[in-house]
Amino acid sequence: MTKLYNFSAGPAMLPVAVMEQAQAEFLDWNGTGCSVLEVSHRGDAFLEMAHQAERDLRELMAVPDNYRTLFMHGGGRGQFSAVPQNIASSTDSADYLDCGIWSGFAIREAEKYLASVNRVAGQVDTEQGRAIAPVEQWQVNPRAAYFHYCPNETVDGVALHQIPAVEAPLVADMSSNILSEPLDVSRFGVIYAGAQKNIGPSGFAIAIVREDLLGAPQQSVSTIMDYTVQAADGSMYNTPNTFAWYLAGLVFKWLKQQGGVAAMGKLNRAKAEHLYAYIDNSGFYSNPVHPAYRSIMNVPFLLADDALNATFLSEAEQHGLVGLKGHRFVGGMRASIYNAMPMAGVEALVSFMQDFEQRYG
Ligand SMILES: *Cc1c(COP(=O)(O)O)cnc(C)c1O
Repeated sequence: MTKLYNFSAGPAMLPVAVMEQAQAEFLDWNGTGCSVLEVSHRGDAFLEMAHQAERDLRELMAVPDNYRTLFMHGGGRGQFSAVPQNIASSTDSADYLDCGIWSGFAIREAEKYLASVNRVAGQVDTEQGRAIAPVEQWQVNPRAAYFHYCPNETVDGVALHQIPAVEAPLVADMSSNILSEPLDVSRFGVIYAGAQKNIGPSGFAIAIVREDLLGAPQQSVSTIMDYTVQAADGSMYNTPNTFAWYLAGLVFKWLKQQGGVAAMGKLNRAKAEHLYAYIDNSGFYSNPVHPAYRSIMNVPFLLADDALNATFLSEAEQHGLVGLKGHRFVGGMRASIYNAMPMAGVEALVSFMQDFEQRYG
């Protein structure tokens, strides 16, 4: 098998060691003689694994004791409706910072469940590129039930690297940057993430909820999306996605072996810097984002001539570099360089880009 680097935005590359372990124990998991897909989620073997995965997640993120870690259904978008239903009433207004495309989807979903959604601010164009409006321009509602933002906009490649200082409980969609670097969880009311970028299989989600936000929701919420019920039932109100939970557990173990989120953060910054530095110094590729607002997970870039896109993608594939096609909304290219992408993958991409520029630039 030739070495392949997968830059897909999600479902994304998973650590090779994790995939190999899952493969090796697929038919006989943990000495049970059964696949992990075939055992009861209420059996001792599964419960032990599930609790260990939760402890590892909490340790990795240094989750304080007054937060619950929930393993939910429905991916990132499921949480777009879970958040307003669980922590606001239908007569409330909530603040949403419109950081980019995913924020927009979250806003439209929240509008279904709330009296109003206040769009606090959005992206702005500056001389140094696209950015998020500075705090002084934010129109914050002092009575907002919560303040929602997406610190890493997966499609736009725009990130907010400072945690907003707001009065209302802070809610963050971390689908594409969870576990990518150290984070002060205590600043947040709710952190959620669909799993398929930095955690494991799609359709699965993690929600980290501050305990004072639990209690009977103030509006009706479907029970599988009810944070309070899921917290009381150990995320097993109904049958959880057992395989996703298991695989996430393997990823958490792998992350601990790599030195945890501090080590990942250093590596992720180095990977992103390597790629951005090359793009910035080239006259052939460009990235439209202000340097202070650039994502370290998703790096969109354009070729000087769009007519070369198809050639770039097919030659990249021949070099074992796949999943580089930009999102259908924005075109161009996008390299997603989550935790599982090694530095060698980014180096291989940059050297291919150099070679391509020499031949076509
Ligand atoms: C991928 C993504 C989502 C959607 O996740 P699904 O699991 O497909 O619902 C939501 N928010 C962000 C920031 C994402 O990157």
